[in-house]
Amino acid sequence: MFREFDAGATGLDTAEALQRLERYGPNRLPEAPPRSPLMRLLAQFHNVLIYVLLVAALIAGAMGHWVDTIVILGVVLVNAVIGFVQEGKAEDALRAIRNMLSSQAMVLRDGGHVSVSAEELVPGDIVLLQSGDKVPADLRLLRAKGLQIQEAVLTGESVAVEKGTDPVTEDAALGDRLCMAYSGTLVTHGQASGIVVATGAATEIGRISGLVSQVETLTTPLLRQMAVFSRRLTGTVLVLALAMLIFGVLVRGFSTAEMFMTVVGLAVAAIPEGLPAILTVTLAIGVTRLAGRNAIIRRLPVVETLGSVSVICSDKTGTLTRNEMTVQNIATVEGLYTVEGSGYIPRGGFLLEDQSVEADQAPLLMQAIRAALLCNDATLEQKADDWRVHGDPMEGALVVLAVKAALEPKMERQQHPRTDLIPFESEHKFMATLHHAHDGSAIIYLKGAPEQILARCAKVQGAAGEELPMDAERWRQRVEDLASQGQRVLAVACKPAQAHQQELDFNDVEEGLVLLGLFGLIDPPRTEAIEAVAECRTAGIRVKMITGDHAGTARAIAAQLNLENSAEAITGHDLDRMDDAALSARAREVDVYARVSPEHKLRLVTLLQAQGAIVAMTGDGVNDAPALKRADVGIAMGHKGTEAAKEASEMVIADDNFATIVHAVEQGRTVYDNLKKAIVFLLPINGGEALSIMIAVLFGFTLPITPVQILWVNMVSSVALAMALAFEATEPETMRRPPRPANEAMLSGFLLWRIALVSALMAAGVFGIFGWASTHGSTLEESRTYAVNTLVAMEVFYLFSVRYLRAPSFKFDQLFNSRAVLIAVAVAVTLQLFFTYGPVMERFFDTRPVDFVHGVEIIALGMALFMILELEKLALRKWRRKHGGSRCSPGRSEAKS
Ligand code: ATP
Repeated sequence: MFREFDAGATGLDTAEALQRLERYGPNRLPEAPPRSPLMRLLAQFHNVLIYVLLVAALIAGAMGHWVDTIVILGVVLVNAVIGFVQEGKAEDALRAIRNMLSSQAMVLRDGGHVSVSAEELVPGDIVLLQSGDKVPADLRLLRAKGLQIQEAVLTGESVAVEKGTDPVTEDAALGDRLCMAYSGTLVTHGQASGIVVATGAATEIGRISGLVSQVETLTTPLLRQMAVFSRRLTGTVLVLALAMLIFGVLVRGFSTAEMFMTVVGLAVAAIPEGLPAILTVTLAIGVTRLAGRNAIIRRLPVVETLGSVSVICSDKTGTLTRNEMTVQNIATVEGLYTVEGSGYIPRGGFLLEDQSVEADQAPLLMQAIRAALLCNDATLEQKADDWRVHGDPMEGALVVLAVKAALEPKMERQQHPRTDLIPFESEHKFMATLHHAHDGSAIIYLKGAPEQILARCAKVQGAAGEELPMDAERWRQRVEDLASQGQRVLAVACKPAQAHQQELDFNDVEEGLVLLGLFGLIDPPRTEAIEAVAECRTAGIRVKMITGDHAGTARAIAAQLNLENSAEAITGHDLDRMDDAALSARAREVDVYARVSPEHKLRLVTLLQAQGAIVAMTGDGVNDAPALKRADVGIAMGHKGTEAAKEASEMVIADDNFATIVHAVEQGRTVYDNLKKAIVFLLPINGGEALSIMIAVLFGFTLPITPVQILWVNMVSSVALAMALAFEATEPETMRRPPRPANEAMLSGFLLWRIALVSALMAAGVFGIFGWASTHGSTLEESRTYAVNTLVAMEVFYLFSVRYLRAPSFKFDQLFNSRAVLIAVAVAVTLQLFFTYGPVMERFFDTRPVDFVHGVEIIALGMALFMILELEKLALRKWRRKHGGSRCSPGRSEAKS
């Protein structure tokens, strides 16, 4: 095998690996080429309304209205370009987050273990696998220990298969090639190493899937719902328009040509053409902002779900705590040792019951520390003054302890080489190793959760090398004492083995062990997690800690974090004894769950969901996948998490920090608010315009705004203004209101009322100024120009109003605190000035310059709309206060004051 790939048992060297990378190319599946820009631009025209407009342009041309034809085509083109640019931005956002999730592989290079990007693997590399990893390339296994791999992506079989190193016949079917690990499959159990035999497109998965299509559409249930709404509205409007055409020609006696353009105007007026694009951009910006705060979205719909999360179930270690462990106490039969120093700097002395001791003068202490060092996979590295741990932080802390005790890790490992191991898995909660010393003696070391270790120990190691009888109760009490101080407790034991024993299995560590001592490690809560827990409380979100750690430790940390209920804890053992009804009742009250296994997590999520909670759940291990999938928001840890957990989750937290989850919820609420604001902003503009046209036709009035003018307002001004809402920052009150009920309709009674009110006010403004001007000496063209400008002025003022749906918008600092809004207004006003005073526009849109007095009137009407809405907000707030602002009051979720 090595010869075939010109590789050695110590792996490739970096130079060779680089050369091979050139030769074989990166280890990634070839992507389908992205859509060409031309295709993307053309796709912008694939829309019912655009078809209607193109037909209208054609008919207008046929009827000799060339100017209208040019205007319609021009506006359609501008709209397509805006859509094209926005879509490009949205796709860029998605691509960027995809790149943040590239996976890593542990490989042997230059004789040492290094973690490299999976894309850098080349044939001949030796890759190490452990449970939870996604196999990064096709591997021929060289060593396998309890290895099980789930190959569903290749074979469709979801039960994991056991793998080994024995060769199989060449014609074995894919599922029977037990000495191979294939790219894209998941390691569910055990450890292994293998040599890379194929990468990228040459792998089995590469051959099956051919090109991977990386195109993911930027959508969520709400966006889909709005798209359906838009389509239905379009259909209804088209039918209505036809009815109006008939009504206008037959009843009102308008000419068909005149009516045709009116009807096109109605269609343009009533259809919210800009809405889907704005919503997509809002979502893309939300996803980008989340990524900027370390929350990487894997499945887009979760952006919406985040906003309604009502329970967060979080791991403790590393998420709520810092995962920077330090051994603080060691308990042996001699008493309780205290270790000085903190962090990973290996400096600090030892005290026994307050008396300073030299570690090398205390043989039992040294024996326990040596066991903890050898039954350990972590390494400590010094770079200048910086000490860094590679591997599990808790194991790292034990290495630091060993160095404090003047042990030399490298030398110890050479003198007591490891022959075999049982790796740590959270189901059995211990790790065991078999060592042979040079004198031929063999020993087994075991370290793990005290319950697991104490149960296996018949004796305790005495200070002078003698073995004492085990007083299990006393040791249990010592565990409780350390745990109640928030320390994470580990027990360490040993057992002599036969010199010829080369393999270690579970039977060897079932019983007959000798307890060496207990280690108490501190892992303080993250400061930002304490703040985030407090924030959850005001935001109506319950935080539950679900940990594999001891109940006493978990309760102590919960108290430091100020969880709502840190006094009680349910253990995995209790969970097993409770039926669903009992657990469901307790789960409402209890916030600390200790010594739980992944199956318990699944049960808890299911029960909490049955109570109507929207549950976010964190996870990192391979067995957490079902609970992560089941949760409404499955969250995997970026550093600590296995690939299996990441694959099962909706979101990955790059910094493993609880505070990031809470930020993500806040951002989720913001995105939802902004989507809502965009809808509440755009719909009344369509409503106002459609109302104006319908009233004119029904009552036989002259149209106050021409169809092409409406086209201008909707496809240029409105889009420019609404875009600002996508950038709206989080409102200060966002995390001071309860979560949005998951089944809440987007358009609540309050929002429907607001849309109807603003529609009516806009129609009134347009008709008001048009009627007043045309009866007071203005020409038809002038009156229409005033009407269009009034509509846009109202839009501008409405934009300021809609930024705060319920709270007053009339606060100086709030009016001008958004750069996006100010830019959007500047753009809209400039365009409007050009529209009104530009000689070209006069030809195309039949506009006339607006004089000063009318200009003031127009702005006054815009302001009037703003003031009326402020009064309405005030009245509603008063009403709410009087009626207690009950949960069911309209628009509760936008509650502000
Ligand atoms: P959380 O679920 O909050 O991350 P946790 O890290 O304590 O908590 P597990 O990783 O399942 O959960 O660990 C459970 C227990 O197993 C620990 O409390 C510890 O006693 C023991 N343990 C953890 N890591 C190791 C290890 N590398 N070797 C031996 N025992 C370990």
